[in-house]
Amino acid sequence: NKKVVLRHYVSGFPKESDFEVVTTETVRLMVPEGSGAVLVKSLYLSCDPFMRSRMSRREDLNFYPEFTPGSVISGIGVARVVDPGNSDFSRGELVWGAIGWEEYSLIENPESLVKIRHEDLPLSYYAGLIGMTGFSASVGFYDICSPKKEQYVFVSAASGAVGQLVGQFAKLTGCYVVGSAGSDEKVGLLKGKLGFDDAFNYKKESDLNATLKRYFPEGIDIYFDNVGGRTLEAVLPNMRTSGRISACGMISQYNLQEPECIHNLFHLITKCVRIEGFMAHRHLHKYPEFEDKMAGLIKEGKIVYMEDVAEGIDSAPAAFVNLFTGRNFGKQLVLVARD
Ligand code: NDP
Repeated sequence: NKKVVLRHYVSGFPKESDFEVVTTETVRLMVPEGSGAVLVKSLYLSCDPFMRSRMSRREDLNFYPEFTPGSVISGIGVARVVDPGNSDFSRGELVWGAIGWEEYSLIENPESLVKIRHEDLPLSYYAGLIGMTGFSASVGFYDICSPKKEQYVFVSAASGAVGQLVGQFAKLTGCYVVGSAGSDEKVGLLKGKLGFDDAFNYKKESDLNATLKRYFPEGIDIYFDNVGGRTLEAVLPNMRTSGRISACGMISQYNLQEPECIHNLFHLITKCVRIEGFMAHRHLHKYPEFEDKMAGLIKEGKIVYMEDVAEGIDSAPAAFVNLFTGRNFGKQLVLVARD
């Protein structure tokens, strides 16, 4: 059973050497009697920026318990049930949810696993598009921002897993949408493949406030924030009255020793702007509705989806590091096994 172990707490940007892929003894393909656990075989692992906060002792960023150095890390993934124990899962059933970054995982709280209902879709989609990633984009855009036709929408980290979907949801709603990304190639994809109205490379802009004024001369109604920090600061003076900001993530802060201080907050008051954070897993009661809606959109060909799939569990550390160098295009996954 190969597993990805955290060697030590991570400081600054994560590196491949912060992890080790170790092979342990052959796994017993049975759950221990009376444990209430389920044994699953990992198929896809989802690389998620929030995992970074579990790799160090930053109390301001930690929501989930930290990983223990020397132990296997965990995240969201797609898996097949090998031994259902006493649960209501059956052998061979496909599920997604929190699993270990290992070939076989003993899930001690199987109620956190979600049964996959649309088996005719590519399985990897449940580690992203129709799993927690797509659900986050949906909750954060539709529920938090209450978008309306013809409104002006700005999305940061727009070519990433969540961002690419938010942009498309905005277009499906009839909004005008601009995305920012960290390379010219990504900007090209946003404007071409993903249908954004416009896009820019934030690394080439020295004054983001002025950049946003150029792209949004009439201001921004909705900002979907994946990055926080200086981008959020520059957005605030550019918000329109009664605008909404969905605080989805702050990836620009995850590797800093101290979070940056945000200026311009007074604009929230003077423009009556609402900023609201969300944790997608707290909205899971709405997941089945989302799953069916998204399955429909996919089958109708209404969603373009970029995946970046690294092959084999040995490639998992490098795939995770990609999120912070911006090397990933779309959803970063690790394929552990096809079946
Ligand atoms: P992405 O696929 O977007 O990958 C991360 C991207 O962020 C990189 O490709 C890179 O793109 C960009 N990035 C990395 N470092 C920086 C930086 N310092 N400043 C600006 N951009 C940076 O990841 P996800 O779509 O999975 O996640 C996006 C955000 O959403 C994260 O902040 C994450 O924590 C959050 N999230 C929140 C959820 C919730 O429930 N609230 C659920 C899921 C995700 P580029 O080349 O463009 O810089």
